[in-house]
Amino acid sequence: MSDPATETKTLDRHECRACGYVYNPQKGDSRSEIAPGTAFADLPQSWTCPVCGARKSVFQNVGELEGASGFKENQRYGLGVNGMTEGQKSLLIFGGLVVGILFLLSFYGLQ
Ligand SMILES: [Zn+2]
Repeated sequence: MSDPATETKTLDRHECRACGYVYNPQKGDSRSEIAPGTAFADLPQSWTCPVCGARKSVFQNVGELEGASGFKENQRYGLGVNGMTEGQKSLLIFGGLVVGILFLLSFYGLQ
């Protein structure tokens, strides 16, 4: 008969109220060499927020991660690089051509 004592530990996540960092016990904290599966209560008193350095007392229990299937962390928004429409691009190219032609005309006009 095995006695799974580890199951009595809660794996509630804790959010840093200073910067919003969320400590996930299922992941641990690699920067502080905290192994995955370490409950927040088991973290050493010297442990601080890896982002802003806040103490444990600043953290707030935000409960366990809901549902193991859907990871919201995988949601990614677009990079926001492609902000220009095709019209704006062609306008930019056309505008560049006009400026170039005007430059050439003025250059020849000087002679
Ligand atoms: Zn923080």
